[in-house]
Amino acid sequence: MISIRNLSMRLASGGQWVEILRNINLEVPEGTLLSVVGPSGSGKSTLLGLIAGLDTPTSGAIRLNGSLLADLDEDERTRFRGKMLGFIFQSYHLIPSLTALENVSVPLELAGEADALKRSRVLLDSVGLGHRGHHYPLQLSGGEQQRVAIARAIARRPPILLADEPTGNLDSATGQMVMDLLLQIHRTEGNTTLLVTHNASLAAQADRVVTLGDGTIAEDMPSSGRT
Ligand code: ADP
Ligand code: MG
Repeated sequence: MISIRNLSMRLASGGQWVEILRNINLEVPEGTLLSVVGPSGSGKSTLLGLIAGLDTPTSGAIRLNGSLLADLDEDERTRFRGKMLGFIFQSYHLIPSLTALENVSVPLELAGEADALKRSRVLLDSVGLGHRGHHYPLQLSGGEQQRVAIARAIARRPPILLADEPTGNLDSATGQMVMDLLLQIHRTEGNTTLLVTHNASLAAQADRVVTLGDGTIAEDMPSSGRT
């Protein structure tokens, strides 16, 4: 469950204050798949970064499964993030010097999990890349790299998944494959998922669609496209 109250974010830019998010209120019940859409510059990535605790809001409160982010110090927040959140980026953010298998294994090893590599193999299999474990990111297609990044994001079974334009660098067929994978993960794991996308047909596959405009919520609608 993600609960956001009166969230505002203001930054100084070129000697002026820029209001990036203005008084955002949003409740995302556990297990919801929510799309966030809106024009470039409307504050989508900023919102995700605040939810991930990577930035501190100017005002307002964010609760993730009941915990108030502002109550955590930096170390606690890092641990909390590792346990609670999986993050998927537009440009994959894989570590180029590590193989696909090693990339998936990183969060497990950081968490001190025994059998990290064994679990990583299972994860890679589950995204259809069991045969690519020893390949480096540059030897993989964009769609394959994103599937590795998704396996890494879900490795610790986080209750919340945040995806910032995960199909933004992919052609539409590959984008739909990545979306199908996210939908399948959402069905089996039941994560609360926030999906930022520019693609209206992908957005419509969520349970609910929130539209940001100029730093505020312009629209918040149940999706018509989900069967
Ligand atoms: P979106 O992801 O919807 O495209 P962003 O959240 O990245 O939008 O950015 C929202 C607005 O905030 C944009 O106008 C952007 O230029 C501005 N912005 C983002 N980060 C910073 C920053 N660190 N300093 C100043 N302005 C920023
Ligand atoms: Mg963005």
